[in-house]
Amino acid sequence: MKELIILGSTGSIGIQSLEVAEKNGFRVTGLTAGSNINLLESQARKFKPLSVAVADTNKAKELKIKLKDTDIKVYSGTDGVCEVAVGRGDTLISAIVGIAGLKPTLCAIKAGKTIALANKETMVTAGEIVNNLAKENGVKILPVDSEHSAIFQSLEASDRKLLKKIILTASGGPFFGKTQKDLENVTVKQALNHPNWSMGAKITIDSATLMNKGLEVIEAVHLFGVKPDDIEVLIHRQSILHSAVEFCDGAVIAQLGTPDMKLPIQYALTYPERTFSYGGLSLSDIGTLTFQKPDTDTFKSLPTCIDAIKKGGIYPAAVNGANEQSVKLFLEGKIKFLDIAEFNARVLSDIKNVKNFTVEDIFNTDKLARELVNGYYLKGKRYLSLPLLIVYGRI
Ligand code: NDP
Ligand code: MG
Repeated sequence: MKELIILGSTGSIGIQSLEVAEKNGFRVTGLTAGSNINLLESQARKFKPLSVAVADTNKAKELKIKLKDTDIKVYSGTDGVCEVAVGRGDTLISAIVGIAGLKPTLCAIKAGKTIALANKETMVTAGEIVNNLAKENGVKILPVDSEHSAIFQSLEASDRKLLKKIILTASGGPFFGKTQKDLENVTVKQALNHPNWSMGAKITIDSATLMNKGLEVIEAVHLFGVKPDDIEVLIHRQSILHSAVEFCDGAVIAQLGTPDMKLPIQYALTYPERTFSYGGLSLSDIGTLTFQKPDTDTFKSLPTCIDAIKKGGIYPAAVNGANEQSVKLFLEGKIKFLDIAEFNARVLSDIKNVKNFTVEDIFNTDKLARELVNGYYLKGKRYLSLPLLIVYGRI
């Protein structure tokens, strides 16, 4: 029986992973959360893992008390999450959000676990290190991100050497068709209103800025060993064709399905087998599928990510760190929607590369990028007069 560890089990992907595990009869051996101990407790009581971990150390203490009538071991802090990541289990679902997922995923690779990767920030920030470590340890990394799962499935059709290009689709998010002017004063609520997918807050904002697609270009470069110029991003409003590949003879092979993450999660866990359906697709009900080029003048984070991966080195980690901090400030109501892309681009130009970078350099870059973003924010705040601060809702 497959034994699963789920990092980030209280999140959108984590919860759906547990549904998939239950449906397929997998044994769940480890679960982790950032701080949501109420949900983690009920998951632990239902799935009876051997161990759980909470990144927030105070919350971990509380959970330990709550679970004292059970045999479940409770770990705490990032090290505790890593303990769960290397515990018993053959496959690990990496579904923490942000660079917080990097360290435990690296630990799991070193421990020889098969990785079902949802946490794209792991590949974005440290793709080369992750790939090298996976190779050294004979570890398979299977994509959970729906587009990358679609590419992975489409690539099965022929020899990888015959691949000409990847077509990476994007829904376009809630602000498709808008101009920079239209986006000047959009609210957090509007940005969180994704048309097709229900996801965690950070990735939902990334979808609204098209940063998510930029991160996915970088993720695809590392997962499939292609160059950024071999990836074409297309806006596909219906989120039915999850991505495609074109082979040397011009044949385009795609994977289509309803927008439901349980399908790519399950495929990563059952590959190369296929098991349950989560609702088939009626193409006649959908009727029309549309494809358009993205508006990179309005959604500038997409080209920023492509520049970052072309520059290579620590630049993708810098842009990712900048974005994590910008999105945090935006969700807190401290900066405007368009500031996110502006700050991400500024970090790319303000940061210096590090030669022969290590994992430590990645974490240092992430920290520096966040500090730069905080600096831009504070500087902007200082220059605003009191009435403007009230208008912008910053006080
Ligand atoms: P959520 O915000 O819904 O969940 C994030 C999970 O990570 C939660 O379990 C959260 O715990 C945990 N977490 C947060 N911070 C930390 C931390 N510092 N240390 C340890 N754990 C932490 O995110 P999603 O499920 O939406 O996304 C997870 C990953 O999957 C992201 O990388 C995203 O890009 C990717 N992804 C998501 C898709 C989706 O449909 N949601 C689609 C494709 C990819 P707590 O609940 O306690 O806060
Ligand atoms: Mg995706």
